[in-house]
Amino acid sequence: MGIPAVFGLGTSLKPEFSGRVAYMDGETGAIFLEPDELTLLAFREKYEKEQQMKQLLQSMRGQEDITLDGKKINVYCNIGSPEDVAAVQANDGQGIGLFRSEFLYLAASDYPSEEEQFQAYKSVAAATNGKRVIIRTLDIGADKQVDYFDMKKEENPALGLRAIRICLNRPEVFRPQLRALYRASAYGKIAIMFPMITSVWEVKECKRACQAVMKELKEEGIPFNPETEIGIMIETPASVFIAEELAKHVDFFSVGTNDLTQYTLACDRQCNDLGKFLDPHHPAVLRAIKMAADAAHANGIWIGVCGELGADLSLLPTFLAMGLDELSVTPSAVLPLRAEIRKSIAKTCTLEMLEC
Ligand code: PEP
Ligand code: MG
Repeated sequence: MGIPAVFGLGTSLKPEFSGRVAYMDGETGAIFLEPDELTLLAFREKYEKEQQMKQLLQSMRGQEDITLDGKKINVYCNIGSPEDVAAVQANDGQGIGLFRSEFLYLAASDYPSEEEQFQAYKSVAAATNGKRVIIRTLDIGADKQVDYFDMKKEENPALGLRAIRICLNRPEVFRPQLRALYRASAYGKIAIMFPMITSVWEVKECKRACQAVMKELKEEGIPFNPETEIGIMIETPASVFIAEELAKHVDFFSVGTNDLTQYTLACDRQCNDLGKFLDPHHPAVLRAIKMAADAAHANGIWIGVCGELGADLSLLPTFLAMGLDELSVTPSAVLPLRAEIRKSIAKTCTLEMLEC
């Protein structure tokens, strides 16, 4: 949303700070309580520079996401609700690489109906003028708990019943979402993506559920696109190790670097005390992405990144060297990324960041 924010301060944010003036830097995560003149001056300078940069970046609107030597890479956006489409348009995103559909569930006090979901997905599909819209099926559990799901308390929720595991266990939840997605596919270029995949059988079950829904819709005379692309998130080490096999069953991969980092490094993504141990630039994480990219391309499918690393400009040369086809980022990161892509020469990019 372009609103600076600092989070994860824990107990260092004391109640006695309430009512005092604070300046915060959403980029560095620093907060200054009642800053002195010198700090204020530095803040103003930084703010003005940022405004000038934003102005300059406007010239990137309408430009292609292409390197100087002609390598195209799709820059898409991550969104959490139909209202976010306005930010995608304002920032000239070329598509939606991740619509986190669970936000429809998190905002409700009971299961959203098929019709409610259909309206939400249709509105996004219709508003994006034929651009690709990748909608991820429900990814709750772990850090995203919903009371009405009445889940058992788990010792390790990040390793428990979450995301696709809930959907495959509860067809009464999965089926209405798939029906809503396929119904919406008649109104735009929707693609369906399954989260937290670890096994080929899960993908086969998901695809069987899709087939069953398409059969129902056909019998009911409801329009849908039978060619709707199906993809999976690569966000577990298991999915990286079997990426060759998984690639044979889907149309695309999208790497969820937030969870892939968590599971590869055995570091809880919500634990603020992990500091340098939770290192998304760790060569193990980057090599995992490369392995998935090689498997995707060897099997003729495309691959993108939709986790936070997609917007990390310091990794762009590495991603170009891997030959990634898409980066899906928060809307405000589209134009800075495009500017960087257009300055890059893909064939000179190296994989040196993968070294230990
Ligand atoms: C990810 O894990 O990188 C991802 C994009 O999904 P989420 O952050 O919603 O878990
Ligand atoms: Mg994830």
